[in-house]
Amino acid sequence: MQTVWRFNYHSMDKTYTNPIWHPFTQMASAAAPIHIESAKGCILFGQDGKTYIDAVSSWWVNIHGHANPMIAQRIAEQALKLEHVIFAGFTHTPAIDLANALLRILPDSMAKIFFSDNGSTAVEVAIKMALQYWYNQGVRNKTKIIAFENAYHGDTFGAMSVGGRGAFNAAFAQHLFHVDYIPVPNADNILHVQEQFEALTASSEVAAFIFEPLVQGAGGMLMHKAEHLDQLVQMARQKKVLCIADEVMTGFGRTGKNFATEYLSNQADIMCLSKGITGGFMPLGVTACSQDIFNSFYAMEVDKTFFHGHSYTGNPLACAAANASMDILVSEDCQNNIKAIGLSHARFAETLKNEVLIKDIRQQGTILAIELKTAEGSSYFNHIRDEIYQFSLAHGVLLRPLGNIIYIMPPYCILQEELEKIYEVITLFIHHLNSKKN
Ligand code: PMP
Repeated sequence: MQTVWRFNYHSMDKTYTNPIWHPFTQMASAAAPIHIESAKGCILFGQDGKTYIDAVSSWWVNIHGHANPMIAQRIAEQALKLEHVIFAGFTHTPAIDLANALLRILPDSMAKIFFSDNGSTAVEVAIKMALQYWYNQGVRNKTKIIAFENAYHGDTFGAMSVGGRGAFNAAFAQHLFHVDYIPVPNADNILHVQEQFEALTASSEVAAFIFEPLVQGAGGMLMHKAEHLDQLVQMARQKKVLCIADEVMTGFGRTGKNFATEYLSNQADIMCLSKGITGGFMPLGVTACSQDIFNSFYAMEVDKTFFHGHSYTGNPLACAAANASMDILVSEDCQNNIKAIGLSHARFAETLKNEVLIKDIRQQGTILAIELKTAEGSSYFNHIRDEIYQFSLAHGVLLRPLGNIIYIMPPYCILQEELEKIYEVITLFIHHLNSKKN
């Protein structure tokens, strides 16, 4: 009988006592987690002596690979100087430096930097900023939000509310606030989407439009063209709808440019950042906003204050890590690596173009997604996911497919031979599928 990986009930074994409840993991059916002892560059070293190439930058965060000595050093130096200080009423150099470093590379429309802890909180902050922006100006009817179908913006309640509805959030459906969804635009539906946008904004009740620019990550690495998004952002601006670009995944070079919104001519009012910001060393979220957003809160009336802040806001260690990560990102070497990965992916995609079991191959910068054709159709819960996952691990590569969608999102320091190994494993898997079919 063929092995069905998902029924590999290691965790049901009474001798296996894991005190930890892992994220996005059905603990009853998942295989025991792989114990990683250390990591270097793109390689994860398992306790059992096995190694894995981290082809997904560990949930898209390790843009400079693992255990980068420069980032580690800068955190260590900062830890001996100032590990943390309350960020209301106090400030410190790592945060000031980081805010300036971010504003140097962010689109010109961004003027202020608000810190939080992760991607979801960066989104929560963005939503609250957008809603209170109107509230502070006495505009009480602008309370609605437009989002894309299949969007994913995080796991907290506000972030879940603006995400597409489905299995991830079904248990909370009645607690999520109402959002109007529009399809992601493409050449065929753009006029229809524009009409929908026009109709939704006709009553002036829409406060904000939130989107993952160019690539919807967790939704399945779904990609859309900059020109189409640009048209919607332009409409939003004309209709006085604030634009929130969630660049939590696309930020910091992922799409080929520092930020995906750089491909647009119309800029966002608010941007959400996290993941790559510290190179995977420390949790950190940032919500950047325009001067106009900030001005709406800047008043002598205390009730116009933005009453939001987390205990770890602006943590100096996180900021030190991010400052080091930014220094690496803007370096010529890193920028060249980003370009090289893009070219390498494109060459690999070319080799797959005649594969009958591939439904679609899409690429944006350093992200390559390969959507497989299966009887189950495209879904996060497609069973082929477990097969690809185990197959690639057995071949020393960490891939974490979104259902039938395999994607590569490597650290920028990945070596060409490591990329080739990832390509080889994917090709092998596709051939393995072909042989099963024949
Ligand atoms: N926004 C986007 C676009 C994301 O991809 C994610 C995480 N995958 C988030 C927000 C949430 O980030 P976090 O997991 O750090 O809360």
